[in-house]
Amino acid sequence: MHEFTVAQSIVDSVLHEAEVRNATRVKEIDIEVGQLMQVDRRVLKDALTILITGPILKGAKIHLRVARARFSCRRCGHRWTMNEAKKQLSSISDKLLVREPDSRELPLHFLPYLYPAFLHCSRCGSSDVEVPEGEEIILRRLVMG
Ligand SMILES: [Zn+2]
Repeated sequence: MHEFTVAQSIVDSVLHEAEVRNATRVKEIDIEVGQLMQVDRRVLKDALTILITGPILKGAKIHLRVARARFSCRRCGHRWTMNEAKKQLSSISDKLLVREPDSRELPLHFLPYLYPAFLHCSRCGSSDVEVPEGEEIILRRLVMG
């Protein structure tokens, strides 16, 4: 499951940070997950709870929040959010889409890194679109002991 893969990579980074800083305990973990990662926050939290074991991580508090995706135009600097982007994404020709059976979700679900390829700037029309926020997982804060 996608969420478990994401959770595992978070746990790996936390352990790495703890090791680098010679910490023996991690007490709190603040995580920000980009909207484009398409993770179910509840499932991710459950996965983390299962994976947080061992002397260093056991009992650590997890704070999880989803960071809204933002897009920006490299040509004119215009910025916009996922809501606006979804309108553009919903107008993609059906032939280009890989739909999941019984799903009305945006079919790009599993390929969020392709989003910018289907977007263009609503102000200047440029298709040189960047995703400065929303496609990554950030460890915002670790409280270690
Ligand atoms: Zn533009």
